[in-house]
Amino acid sequence: MELLPTEPVSPTPIVAIVPRSRTLPLSPGRIAWQTTVDRETHALFEELKALLAHVVPTGDMASVLKRALQVAVEQEKKRKFASGVKCRSQRSEATTRAIPDAIKQQVFARDGAACTFVGADGKRCGSTWRLELDHVLPVALGGETSVENLRVLCRAHNQFESERVLGEAHAATAT
Ligand SMILES: [Zn+2]
Repeated sequence: MELLPTEPVSPTPIVAIVPRSRTLPLSPGRIAWQTTVDRETHALFEELKALLAHVVPTGDMASVLKRALQVAVEQEKKRKFASGVKCRSQRSEATTRAIPDAIKQQVFARDGAACTFVGADGKRCGSTWRLELDHVLPVALGGETSVENLRVLCRAHNQFESERVLGEAHAATAT
């Protein structure tokens, strides 16, 4: 009897069995994380672990992750609240100039880094997710880039307001 060359057995697709990510509260203040990462993420983690050896000598995964998240959050906050806030109400090329950092910081400080949109029920949105700066009077309608004419809105409310204001202006000129 002739022996057939054995077929290479494909490895069990672990990813299909284990959920990709899982968060499990263990006790008040402790949460178990389980996730699957690619090689690049693993290499980045190992690199950071080595770089942080003086701060986290044990290489404890939770401590290294905490450090990475702290740095990332700080960096994203800076980008969002200082130099990277987009102005979605701006339409023409002439109005896409950056808002000076000093103005951005004042507006965010005044508005408490949360969406200032007030709904029909009188409740403020207050979202801190995807914040943008909005010209109360759009630049296209002669609005200035000043602390007084800027406000913090979440992305959804910025789009909503931008369409409403420009829509009203369009309706006014059409009549
Ligand atoms: Zn909002």
